[in-house]
Amino acid sequence: QEININHVFAKHESNVRSYCRNFPDIFQRSKGAIIYSQSGREYIDFLAGAGALNYGHNNDFIKQKVMSYLDADGVAHGLDLYTSAKEHFLAKFSELVLSPKQLDYKIQFCGPTGTNAVEAALKLARKITKRPGIFSFMGAYHGMTLGSLSVTGNLGVKAGAFGTSNHVTFMPYPYGFMDTFDTIEFINSVLHDANSGIEKPAAIIFETVQAEGGIVVAPIEWMQRLRELCNHHQILLICDDIQVGCGRTGSFFSFERAGIVPDMVILSKSISGYGFPMSLLLIKPDLDIWEPGEHTGTFRGNQLAFVAGTAALEYRENANLEQDVKIKEFFLKNFLHKEIASINDKIQIRGLGMIWGIDIANFGGSDLAQQITSRCFELGLIVERVGRDDTVIKILPPLTVEMPILQKGCSIIKQAFSEAIS
Ligand code: PMP
Repeated sequence: QEININHVFAKHESNVRSYCRNFPDIFQRSKGAIIYSQSGREYIDFLAGAGALNYGHNNDFIKQKVMSYLDADGVAHGLDLYTSAKEHFLAKFSELVLSPKQLDYKIQFCGPTGTNAVEAALKLARKITKRPGIFSFMGAYHGMTLGSLSVTGNLGVKAGAFGTSNHVTFMPYPYGFMDTFDTIEFINSVLHDANSGIEKPAAIIFETVQAEGGIVVAPIEWMQRLRELCNHHQILLICDDIQVGCGRTGSFFSFERAGIVPDMVILSKSISGYGFPMSLLLIKPDLDIWEPGEHTGTFRGNQLAFVAGTAALEYRENANLEQDVKIKEFFLKNFLHKEIASINDKIQIRGLGMIWGIDIANFGGSDLAQQITSRCFELGLIVERVGRDDTVIKILPPLTVEMPILQKGCSIIKQAFSEAIS
């Protein structure tokens, strides 16, 4: 059935919402990795709420727990009161996530969304070190509020703010023309150079995989050296695990593959398990120097998110999701290299776990990428473009996607590719 885009825009949505423009349909129902439109069309979801739906849409196990909680008149909003929903979440998080990895963090509920926890991390780092500076990385994405925007390395989304913090310095991420350049040595030299004009920062904030930045995967050794550099210079290391945490890369935290322990970790998106808003700042215990009430907010710690988040951790464990991701990772890697990269050697494939990108910057660029994702949509697949110039087709299905659906989604990408370049 044909969709009238103008109708969607005029009646239901604001024109500023780009997703509406890219996916012009009205969605009504969703289950697992499928979204159904009002008119009954089925779409495979390779967008997964940009990482907020790792356990799929309306995951039955999680849903039941939420419904029972509502049925029992569980506290729906408690401001900052200590509730049993919060208590259970903290206990489960400690039992299933922190303890087995021998990690020791205090947990601060920020809220409601990822950017709020980024703000808390930056503010706390400044308070601890009494230094205002932050190092971030070129291509980074950390959010849209003024603090997080100031550490976001994309001038386009910053333009309308007419200036953000001038204490932020962007360092090179190991990517593109920087690939052969020792970026850690560069940061080290800057820190040792009293005449660099760049102040020693309170913290370095980084993503282990720049997701919005184009699925750029940081090498393991690079992350280990970054940790050492921070130790050496007494700079706090903040890992933004908002998009690639909660099992997206395989292990619960994405930094585990490097065997490092950041001083602060930021989680959001899939931590609530069901798409409910929630964000967490994990803080090494001795760094928690907040005064009571120094960083608050009405909606931090959503009660339904606690219930769903607790269930999600249980579900993850019972479903042996970590193992499952390995199998799907193997499939995706093979498919992308064999079926897509083989089309042309200018196509680059990057990713790990269940976050992958097809970069066609040197093969058709953003116009071709747009053509491919639009055709995918017509064929029943929701897939987005990311990257510095929107040239990277981003594959981000729910971790729980059934294998035949994953295969079908991939075959749609292949068909759209073939049609676009024929
Ligand atoms: N950091 C990263 C790595 C993200 O991917 C995002 C969201 N795409 C954010 C921060 C901001 O989170 P939110 O949109 O929930 O504010």
